[in-house]
Formats: sequence, C-alpha cells, structure tokens
Amino acid sequence: KGFSIGLTGGIGSGKTTVANMFAELGATIIDTDLIAHQLSQKNGAAIPSIAQHFGAEFINSDGAMDRNKMRELVFSDAQAKKQLESILHPLIRQQCEMAATHITSKTNYPIFVVPLLIESEDWRQKVQRILVVDCDQETQITRVMQRNHLERTQVLKIMAAQVSREKRLAHADDVINSMADLSQVHSEVERLHKKYLNIAISG
Ligand code: ATP
Repeated sequence: KGFSIGLTGGIGSGKTTVANMFAELGATIIDTDLIAHQLSQKNGAAIPSIAQHFGAEFINSDGAMDRNKMRELVFSDAQAKKQLESILHPLIRQQCEMAATHITSKTNYPIFVVPLLIESEDWRQKVQRILVVDCDQETQITRVMQRNHLERTQVLKIMAAQVSREKRLAHADDVINSMADLSQVHSEVERLHKKYLNIAISG
C-alpha cells in the first residue's frame, strides 16, 4: 500500500482549513464526511440499504436520506447508530480506496480527512501517519458557536462524544497548532508537505 496521511482533529479545530492548504500545494484530499454525505444523497450507493434496514420513511421524496429523521433516530438509539455505521463505513472505505488508487504521480499522496480517526482502530491502522489539527477547547467552542450558531452547551455535547484533546495528541505523528494565525498555519503546512513528499518519494 502507498503512503497516506490521516488528518483529524476535534469539531471546529480547523481540519478543513488545513486540508484546503494541503490541496493547494498538490496533495489529494479525500474527505470522509463529504463521501458519507454523497453516499446518502439521491442515487447514493447507501440509499438502497438504508431503505431496506430503516424503511422507506427514512428516504425523502427526492430520493435522499432524511437527515433530520435519521439524526433523531441514531441520537436516541445506539443500535440504529451501529446499523447505519455498518452500512456506511464499508462504503466509505471502498470510496476512499478507489480515490487513492487514482493517484499515480510520485509527487502526490492522499490525505484522508477523518473527524473520528482516533476513535476508529481501522483508520488508525490504515494510515501511515496521523496529522492532528489542534487547538484548545475554548477556541473550539467559540468557533463552532459562531459558525453553526449553537449554544455553548450544544457544542460541549458534541465534544463529549469525541476523544479528549490529550488522547488525540497522544496518537499524533504530526501536529498543526490551529490557534496560530493563518499565515503561520500555512508555513507549517508547507513544511509538512515537503516532509510528506520526501517520504512518499523515498517510499
Ligand atoms: P468541523 O469538524 O466542524 O468540520 P473543521 O475542523 O473542519 O470543523 P474548520 O471548518 O476548518 O474546522 O474551521 C472552523 C472555523 O475556525 C472556521 O470558521 C475557520 O475559518 C476558523 N479557523 C480555522 N483555523 C483558523 C485559524 N488558524 N485562525 C482563525 N480561524 C480559524
């Protein structure tokens, strides 16, 4: 298997911001949230299984999964959450692998963006290096409250379902401090990109 990076971080840590900078430099970004979204959209590969396991009432008239309804269900029903994950996860992995095989250039490598990478043993084993985008909790809370117009308690609830900052950092091979200003973040991304290219080329 080829060289790959797993990019992760808590909600609002700055994963997308960092991923976009790597993309500009030429890395291939494979975003698992985006893939999950596409799988459950109209004509998505997960739609038939979702209809079969959860019932047609979980599919909107336009053919996409009813996100609100599903969110409500999996929030209150751990079994249903597992069921949905058992449908989505293998498909996500498949799509990720397919996207990665399209990379043929030696001067390119895949970065898988996986919000819950540390929480998933599968993912931790799949990637060669784990890059953590890190900021303190207050920064996370402020950013998500502003961006998603949420109450502090709602953000805390989401954060409670993710591993702690300490645990995430314990798994990190590389760390980007996203409390730094964007120009500093950018130079860190440039430094890491060079390092990753060297590893990708030397194999
Ligand atoms: P999510 O997990 O919710 O998808 P994320 O980890 O992808 O979030 P971003 O969307 O990249 O995080 O960033 C969250 C917010 O913080 C955005 O509004 C972004 O513009 C801002 N942000 C990210 N990095 C910085 C930074 N270094 N300085 C200032 N603002 C930043």
